[in-house]
Amino acid sequence: MKFSDIIGSTADHLRSEMQSAQVVHAYMFAGPAGTGTRTLADICARALLCTGKGEKPCDECPSCRQYMSGNHPDVIRLQPEKSIGVELIRETIDALAIHPYESSRHVVLIYDADKMTPQAQNALLKTLETPPGDAVFFLMTDQMTSLLPTIISRCRIVRFRLLEDKDAVNILTGQHGMTTERARLLARLSMGSVGRAIEMDGSEQYWKTRDLVLRALSALHGPEDVGAAALMLSESKEQAGSILDILELCARDMMVSQDADGEVIQTDLVGVLPTDRFGGAQMLGSIMEARKRLSSNVSWQSVLEMLFFDMAGGKHLWQQ
Ligand SMILES: [Zn+2]
Repeated sequence: MKFSDIIGSTADHLRSEMQSAQVVHAYMFAGPAGTGTRTLADICARALLCTGKGEKPCDECPSCRQYMSGNHPDVIRLQPEKSIGVELIRETIDALAIHPYESSRHVVLIYDADKMTPQAQNALLKTLETPPGDAVFFLMTDQMTSLLPTIISRCRIVRFRLLEDKDAVNILTGQHGMTTERARLLARLSMGSVGRAIEMDGSEQYWKTRDLVLRALSALHGPEDVGAAALMLSESKEQAGSILDILELCARDMMVSQDADGEVIQTDLVGVLPTDRFGGAQMLGSIMEARKRLSSNVSWQSVLEMLFFDMAGGKHLWQQ
């Protein structure tokens, strides 16, 4: 992967910055999962270390190859399982005092930087300001506000956003070989997160659950069908959150096709969703109630039955 494989102005900007004298000592790449913070940090790090000619990273020089195999001696990666403690930060700072082996500088990548303990962050402060040698830090986070303001203020912040639908579709079709139709659906379902779109594409569970939800919806015509419809989903208690998410998305799409402004997200379900039987707006309200019941420990079976009674017009039965 090179800068030119990444769409957007952030990559363009970083490309020129990494190849100029403007590079700073600490970058913070902040953005939700799936927005490319890690991919771009990797490309930047390789560009800084690349010894090839022409566009950097070249992906071909010994340095690029070592980086890609995960064995570059001048790269330090901190990837926490739970947290990054002060000891690990001290070890890292000590390692920076040693002259780099192969390059002119060290590169330190801190994944999930928000997992540094406050002590670890404090230990890092001075080094971030004046790192030994020409070391460059990349801190990645999807929760920037969990970091100490003093850390944040010492980094150049680069914010990552979810992509526009059309950009996500281009990546999903171009780099991941999806059909345009599938890519469009997934780009919308994932709200422009390419990582999430790929995950959903490969998730049998998601499509199975969605199928079950659609079957339950199509079985529900009146209060007399509530038991049967709930039964279709009552076994899937572990998927409760996902089922309510899918129902909510269906309700939203129904609302849009009934009377609201906006674009249908699940274009493959046009003509499939029961827009003739349920009002999308009313259904959204019922789902919100269902979420409240679920979080106040009402059984999943009862949550489903109440929800479907609400939807099928039997709401009065459940009012106390
Ligand atoms: Zn190279």
